[in-house]
Amino acid sequence: MPETLSLYDLDAGQLADLLDGQPRYRLDQVWQALYKQSKFPSEISNVPKSLRDELSDRAPMALTEVTKSVSDSGDTAKWLWRLVDGAVVETVLMLYPDRATVCVSTQAGCAMACGFCATGQAGFERNLTSGEIVEQIIRAQREARDRRVSNIVYMGMGEPMANYDRMWASVNKIHGDVGISARHLTISTVGIIPGIRKLTQESLPVNLAVSLHAANDTLRDELVPINKRYPLGDLADACREYVKATRRRLSFEWALIADTNDRDSDARELADYARSLGAHINLIPLNPTPGYAVRGTSPQQVARFASSLESLGANVTVRRTRGTDIDAACGQLAAGRAITSPVELGARRR
Ligand code: SAH
Repeated sequence: MPETLSLYDLDAGQLADLLDGQPRYRLDQVWQALYKQSKFPSEISNVPKSLRDELSDRAPMALTEVTKSVSDSGDTAKWLWRLVDGAVVETVLMLYPDRATVCVSTQAGCAMACGFCATGQAGFERNLTSGEIVEQIIRAQREARDRRVSNIVYMGMGEPMANYDRMWASVNKIHGDVGISARHLTISTVGIIPGIRKLTQESLPVNLAVSLHAANDTLRDELVPINKRYPLGDLADACREYVKATRRRLSFEWALIADTNDRDSDARELADYARSLGAHINLIPLNPTPGYAVRGTSPQQVARFASSLESLGANVTVRRTRGTDIDAACGQLAAGRAITSPVELGARRR
């Protein structure tokens, strides 16, 4: 964990302390510029240069861009950032006709050890601070320019519930200061039950996504090792309480792995589990990662699996894959340890 607070770690009171003696309106100008206009301190031209310099010196930004890769004709961008202590993380921006979504990391690495996920294969390095999480969104907003970032998914590197307090502090800032409604924020978890229970108590109504991948304990123990600690029955109880208390949307992510979790019996187990909780199912054709030899389900079988879930009365969509060629797709974030090399910005822009 870095020793000094970075710029976006500060709350308004801490900023006022840091810029002791500045009039209130100046603090408001700085705060607006940082959060509403996504400006770097050096760009806040309506305040004196001495104040900008003081801000940059005393509360540095947290992320240094190492590479930016662009895919999908410019509609997907992935950054590799270096943090002040040398840890590295990634962020993905996805532009759609009707929305702009940022996928943020909450940890450098991940301790959950799901074998099919590149981040899990790489192991855990450290938790991110709330400022390091928020700054990813500010930096992505700069790239999106006139398109407003409308949705945030906590689906980058790391397990959000294993860094709960900092993750939640970032949610408060994104909702309260950046101004993206909690209803457009989705926290994805491998199924850490104490985290789901905490989320149930919070007043801001975020969405919950659970990475399910198997709906029987034998298979899930294998695919998602934390299942041994938080098995499916207990997970269902926690999800049920979450939905009942918050009335928010619950969804299950299911990475389709050939001959592993894409059979008829898997569809039946999944449909039963999801229906009993009123959950939406998001199917993700497995993306390739260096450390997992098993293939993804073929497109034909993905379609078949989806329609059998539908005929079993479940609610299902197939997630459109973004940025596979730049290792930006679900499960591919490994911060430079991945198979293909990053493509420099511009190389793919037409
Ligand atoms: N740790 C959290 C946040 C990461 S979200 C969680 O697990 O929910 C990233 C999503 O991509 C998760 O649903 C994860 O299971 C899924 N995923 C991991 N590896 C994948 C792969 N190779 N192909 C497709 N999806 C994958």
